[in-house]
Amino acid sequence: MAEAKAVEIKKLAAAGTLRKLLADHFYELDQAVKAGHPKIAWCTSVGPAELLRAMGFLVYFPENHGAMLGASRMATETIPTANAIGYSPEVCSYLTSDIGACLQNRTPLSAAYEGITAIPKPDVLVYNTNQCRDVQDWFAWYGQRWSRPVLGVECYRGVGEVTDVHVAGIAGQLEALVPPLEEIAGARLDPERLRETVRLSRQCSDLWKEVLETAAAVPSPLTFFDSTIHMAPAVVLRGTQVALDYYRALLAELKARIADGVAAVANEQHRLYWDGMPIWGRLRDLATLFLELRTCVVASTYANSWIFNALDPDDPFRSMARAYTELFIVRSDPYKEKYLEQMIATFAVDGLVFHDAKTCPNNTNCRHGMPQRLQERLGVPSITISGDLNDLRCYSDEQTRTQIEAFVEQLAEKR
Ligand code: SF4
Repeated sequence: MAEAKAVEIKKLAAAGTLRKLLADHFYELDQAVKAGHPKIAWCTSVGPAELLRAMGFLVYFPENHGAMLGASRMATETIPTANAIGYSPEVCSYLTSDIGACLQNRTPLSAAYEGITAIPKPDVLVYNTNQCRDVQDWFAWYGQRWSRPVLGVECYRGVGEVTDVHVAGIAGQLEALVPPLEEIAGARLDPERLRETVRLSRQCSDLWKEVLETAAAVPSPLTFFDSTIHMAPAVVLRGTQVALDYYRALLAELKARIADGVAAVANEQHRLYWDGMPIWGRLRDLATLFLELRTCVVASTYANSWIFNALDPDDPFRSMARAYTELFIVRSDPYKEKYLEQMIATFAVDGLVFHDAKTCPNNTNCRHGMPQRLQERLGVPSITISGDLNDLRCYSDEQTRTQIEAFVEQLAEKR
């Protein structure tokens, strides 16, 4: 077994710019609340952000706030408050930690950004159930609490091939959002502005894809843990120029690492793939553990979820419909297995880590025999970690550490 040594996470220089970008994003929202303008739309992380931006809304993403609640571990204190009003400990812990935080009048934004005391209240909330129904329930709670309209798109689930029928169904729902949004925005949708926003979003997606693909280099310049941080602009700023500038700089830094032989994990010995949600409250611990074990988690379905190859400025509604239905989380198990097979080959992966997230069955793929089928078909071993995205009551540090160490030892023996 690899010996535990003092190791340090190699930070990317772009992290400084990222901090500034995110600060600008949250201060802009806060300022809009105080000034009463521009209007604010809440959007699910793979919802129709392009449409909202093109209509002049500032866009806020509650899941991003959920991740902050998890990473700051404030979630541990706020989840029970949502449980107490009837939200089961088994439903999405982004939802429970966020609603609990609202009921407690707390937000991690206050500690991160001086002067911000609350999350930005929405003028409208817009969801897409492509990830799960929890987002719909989550937004409905806020809509009711603050008497704000909640609009949404109900997506297909378990999709194999994405057909024109799927695309037409979702495109129709997206187009139907326009009249009520125009009424709330007090302005008509400018088709040219929508095309431009979709174009920027597509470019953001292409750059983010390139960033993630640098991890195919051996040794990898990037880890999954880095990507959970640097994905923020792809989520909250897609459709803006600043996101493109950011990813161009990050990409240049990663390419320089490759050229200089700089590895994210010094003396990289093993390469793993992470399937499922991150464990936000343990990112640093897990990143450090894998560093100690000279093991790089090189890729993940999670970070790849903000790659939208289908976006096309010349066909905005249909291409948004396709992009948001082609998502991994929306797809059937046979599709997912083929996708994972391709990722295993592209990133030269030795093994898979499946995260069985207690409160997110939607983004948990190990409960219906997938790891076993992949092992049988491809001979790629895996482990399943029991945990959760935000609820650390579902996670054991000791057990996870022991499991991961044993798994890496097994990989070493195999080698
Ligand atoms: S996909 Fe999972 S983590 Fe994301 S909102 Fe839905 S239940 Fe929560």
